[in-house]
Amino acid sequence: MGQKADFAAERLRMVERLVASRYIQDPRVRDAFLAVPREAFVRPEDADAAYEDVPLPIGRGQTISAPSMIAIMLEEARLAPGDRVLEIGTGSGYHASLVARLVGPQNVVSIERIPRLAEWARSNLARAGLSGVTVVVGDGSLGYPERSPYDCVMVTAGAPEIPDPWRLQLSPRGRIVAPIGPRSGQVLIVATRKADGSLDVREGTPCAFVPLIGARAWSA
Ligand code: SAH
Repeated sequence: MGQKADFAAERLRMVERLVASRYIQDPRVRDAFLAVPREAFVRPEDADAAYEDVPLPIGRGQTISAPSMIAIMLEEARLAPGDRVLEIGTGSGYHASLVARLVGPQNVVSIERIPRLAEWARSNLARAGLSGVTVVVGDGSLGYPERSPYDCVMVTAGAPEIPDPWRLQLSPRGRIVAPIGPRSGQVLIVATRKADGSLDVREGTPCAFVPLIGARAWSA
């Protein structure tokens, strides 16, 4: 008994709260949250807080997003099995693991600029049984052309604007889900690629992500 059973019960309660508050609406998103142990993606000293709906520090001034924020993004992304997804800002690997549950691990590539976090995320993903997810080190403000086109580009760090490489690496009906706006606070945008290659941009929830740092984003 003990910790493992407690975590499972806490996970179920967290998911029930996210469903009750309607952050989670799609049963497939619910099942993904139920399947991924968030305690494997936080620092050991924060394990007790793993199922609170709050962002948690993961070192280097970065954070794992609050579950409700991730739920909003996953609902907006409308991922189907087999969709090819680029996540920008791997952090702990938790968001990537939820995406992997929805589309299949081999369809997910996640890019992180801090090598030590990428290394940590890989080991977290392996512990969660999702080592099929590809984690690469690099500047996601330029996308990741090597594995394009993507049906969805999901960004978990705040960018001043949508850099052109993200649009150019989308499949014909691909989507970008990203926090866009000033460093101090952003709006979650959902941008869909139109037939002429331009983007149809819709603005959603206000949010506050750590900054995306890179050639086409903020400077360090
Ligand atoms: N999705 C993560 C949390 C992301 S925090 C999770 O589930 O835990 C944002 C992450 O974006 C940080 O790890 C930060 O280092 C990374 N980041 C910032 N700028 C980046 C860039 N240009 N390319 C890739 N990663 C970046």
